[in-house]
Amino acid sequence: MPCSVCGKAGHNIRTCPFVKEVKSFEEEDESPPDQWFYGELTEPVKDIDTLTNIMVDGIQKFKKYLQVSELEEDCDTKELGSTIDLWFEHDSSRNNYFDNIVKEDEFSKFCDDIISKAFNDK
Ligand SMILES: [Zn+2]
Repeated sequence: MPCSVCGKAGHNIRTCPFVKEVKSFEEEDESPPDQWFYGELTEPVKDIDTLTNIMVDGIQKFKKYLQVSELEEDCDTKELGSTIDLWFEHDSSRNNYFDNIVKEDEFSKFCDDIISKAFNDK
């Protein structure tokens, strides 16, 4: 039976590598870095479709993180949007790999797209 947390086979919730990673962040009293969620980027993202895929994976991992961690925060849609917003903000002050891809006035639509792709496409 696949793991109920990450969906991969070969282990259960107590031996899940994802859960272990989350716990190790907690023991250090740290929040995972943004790129732990959406993946390491080494060059600017080339278009909005690519960015959408990156953010969908990232936000799914973020939601799982909330579920596994002891933060027990509510993860409603609004909160997830503000997380994406934060990732963009951080990116703009670091590498600017994707902050300029989404226009200011299209940002909330972009977030809605990510969230519906991440959690409603079944
Ligand atoms: Zn697992």
